[in-house]
Amino acid sequence: MSDCALLPVVGGDLQVPLVDGSQTRYINLDYAASAPALQVVADHLVELLPFYASVHRGAGYASQVSTSAYENARVIVGQFVGARLNDEVVFTRNTTDALNLLASIVPGETVFLDIEHHANLLPWGTTGRVVRSADTIAETLELVRAELACKPAALLAVTGASNVTGETLPLRALADIAHRFGTRLAVDGAQLVPHRRVNLAFEGIDYLAFSGHKAYAPFGAGVLVGHSDWLDAAPPHLLGGGAVTSVTLDEATFRTGPARHEAGSPNVLGVATLARAVQELEKLDIATWYAHEAQLRSRLVDGLSTIDGVRIHRIFEDSVDPVGVVSFSIEGVSSRLLATYLSAEWGIGVRDGKFCAHPLLAKLGITEPALRASFGAGSTDADADALVEAVGAFRASGPRSEYELVDGQWTVAGDPRPRPAWAPDLGPSVGFYGCAA
Ligand code: PMP
Repeated sequence: MSDCALLPVVGGDLQVPLVDGSQTRYINLDYAASAPALQVVADHLVELLPFYASVHRGAGYASQVSTSAYENARVIVGQFVGARLNDEVVFTRNTTDALNLLASIVPGETVFLDIEHHANLLPWGTTGRVVRSADTIAETLELVRAELACKPAALLAVTGASNVTGETLPLRALADIAHRFGTRLAVDGAQLVPHRRVNLAFEGIDYLAFSGHKAYAPFGAGVLVGHSDWLDAAPPHLLGGGAVTSVTLDEATFRTGPARHEAGSPNVLGVATLARAVQELEKLDIATWYAHEAQLRSRLVDGLSTIDGVRIHRIFEDSVDPVGVVSFSIEGVSSRLLATYLSAEWGIGVRDGKFCAHPLLAKLGITEPALRASFGAGSTDADADALVEAVGAFRASGPRSEYELVDGQWTVAGDPRPRPAWAPDLGPSVGFYGCAA
């Protein structure tokens, strides 16, 4: 039983309006998109904000404190992921930015799987080589081995945990395969780091990318951790102040180290809150942490499986230990309509769409947008139960309110739910371009 959240999160008791005019506790089942901030992270933000000032650029006391907070975050994050002595911790906008940075430093071709998020597909460009995964992880590892054996590659880039199904890959085995052929392993840790302890040195991961906003910190800072040689040899990710030691009108000399790729004023609040969040994850007892999530996942999957027509998506027959991400479809039911109903009539927040993983959905034969429920340290049995009950009610008797298609999107007809004045309703077509199709 997970009656209680594992860690307190901000917004855990948020009240949201329903279409019938009542209010209910917001049931956040959209952690995989952006997780709520941990309460300790919010407390740290309040502590830090008075000192918020320029980083690396000011002699004032507040600037010096902000600079220390920023650089100390680098140490904390490096330790948290088991960085080695020659690894660098480069702060980026998010995972997407970190993987784009990685793509710009790879001195050769990259091999990747067809199950990836677009952020770990598109940056590899025309020289990237895709391995089409098999029905089992065991066979897929063999296909990766064969690809690397036939033709060398500089990098193998894989997801740590699928943002569609939550399934995880055996990273140590992949590292062993890659290293056998002189290939480095990069892991898209966006969905893994919020759910599992990851250690570069132990698992043989050469590069790891992840985002603060999925790991219980606000502001979305991301990070790329890995060997310094490629990072120092490559052109700077961004050109501008902070990345250079000297500039004339004819030439510039660029720094080595993380500063080389971090031009411009850094996102100190994003980075400091990311560091505070991972410190909290580091304190978790692993057995308790994983058990909390596994129990919630089973409860949700078991509950949804009892509902007629529900298909829960899965990539591999032999996957074990998926993280708290569950995608599903219901035969003949629009996911957009169901997601809108869940919000309007139950106060439940889920994700609908193709999850920025179009090739994976095509591979799984999912032609229409699907639904995704995702959860984590702030989630409880009550959250899982609410979703099962709400989906069951929809299946049994349909929605109670009126819905209409506006610009191709299902919306509540005459939606009466108020919005804060600073976040007015700008219409149904605003805000749904993020891989909703
Ligand atoms: N990879 C995976 C597996 C993801 O789930 C996401 C976010 N949905 C990303 C990469 C991109 O992360 P971000 O939006 O923070 O750049």
